[in-house]
Amino acid sequence: MFREVELPEKLLKDQAPHAGEEAIREIRRLAQGMENLSVLHINSTSYGGGVAELLYTIVPLMRDAGLDARWYVMDNVPPQFFEVTKKIHNSLQGAKTPLTDNEWELYGDINMKLAKNFPPGPWDVVIIHDPQPLATLAFLDDLPESQKPAVGRWFWRCHIDLSTPFAATWQKLVGYVNRFDGAIFTSRKYAQDDLKIPVTEITPSTDPTSTKNAIVPDEEGRKIIASFGINPERPLMVQVSRFDPWKDPFGVVDAYCMLKAEKPDLQLAMVGSIAHDDPEGVELLGKLKKVAEHDQDIHVLSNEDGVGAAEVAAFQQLATVVVQKSIREGFGLTITEAMWKMRPVVAGNATGCRLQITDGVDGFIIGSTEECKEKVNEILENPDLALRLGRAARETVREKFLSTRHVANYLKLFAQSQ
Ligand code: UDP
Repeated sequence: MFREVELPEKLLKDQAPHAGEEAIREIRRLAQGMENLSVLHINSTSYGGGVAELLYTIVPLMRDAGLDARWYVMDNVPPQFFEVTKKIHNSLQGAKTPLTDNEWELYGDINMKLAKNFPPGPWDVVIIHDPQPLATLAFLDDLPESQKPAVGRWFWRCHIDLSTPFAATWQKLVGYVNRFDGAIFTSRKYAQDDLKIPVTEITPSTDPTSTKNAIVPDEEGRKIIASFGINPERPLMVQVSRFDPWKDPFGVVDAYCMLKAEKPDLQLAMVGSIAHDDPEGVELLGKLKKVAEHDQDIHVLSNEDGVGAAEVAAFQQLATVVVQKSIREGFGLTITEAMWKMRPVVAGNATGCRLQITDGVDGFIIGSTEECKEKVNEILENPDLALRLGRAARETVREKFLSTRHVANYLKLFAQSQ
């Protein structure tokens, strides 16, 4: 039911050129006394989406700080389970779709199996990410003492936008959450009133040393996007995202179409991956590809077309403007990545987007498709504005959203509750 994820070595010293030496010294200071602290991260998938992206960096950096940090993912779980958990995800973000009794039963069954097969401890700290494995702790509590791993402290780390959850789903889950020693949210605003455990706010981060963030030489980047049929000489709007209704892919297409009528040169690339725990993605991808058949300047591309980290990097770097038209967004690492690459970003009015972008300073926040079209147009018309927003965006990320700050936040949390 669980598989340990093999991780590359990542060194704190390699972060120094981006985050500064003081950020590394702070982590070393914080980690004193935490040598070999065993920290287990658990989530549903090692591929696709922001959580996997984060853990590939945070866990190795915790190791370099001296902790015994591990990452396990769920394994051999039936695909129907992920249909249920995507429904949970959607309703936690506000969709009014109650789960059936059978769906809750499947959710409980799998979590019970996860509890019975829990990675043997002892663990000083366990961090469960998102709703998929959330109920594991409740089922562990029901097991005989001899079958329970020894765990010091339990945290639930929620990455999704929980500001307006569908009540029936949240009420079912809050009991599971309240068994933890603490919850970690991207924004305190996501913490509902009926949470009875301490809440810590930690924003996600991007790794300046990752392939995704590597500078792609201009010529190479142009070749990469040209290999997908895009003309690097013409303006390009890009949204990089899982194919998910909350990311409003059709709204992006609409904004593009409105602008295309005025700017026939414009191109659109919708770049996304299909995460293992996101069955909805395949369906949406199919629908978008159908829409793209009517306009040869709309390019809908996924990992199945050969879009990996290096290609995503090229698209983000060569975009004239990056769009993230999310309706709900826990955080949105795609925004952080684009901002780090000094791109002007036009993002939806969702909490995660607003956490990163100060409207008009280091990007734009938009509330409608019409406004999205206008802001993209403004950027296309005004290269100086694009440059100013992009430069400010990079400094915002350097100051607030790099991996080192994220690791330091975790260490502070571990120290507090030691
Ligand atoms: N991503 C990717 N390939 C794609 C689409 C997305 O590698 O085709 C990555 C993207 O670069 C980012 C992560 O997946 O690092 C998505 O994280 P985000 O927080 O934006 O959204 P989530 O998918 O977690 O809702």
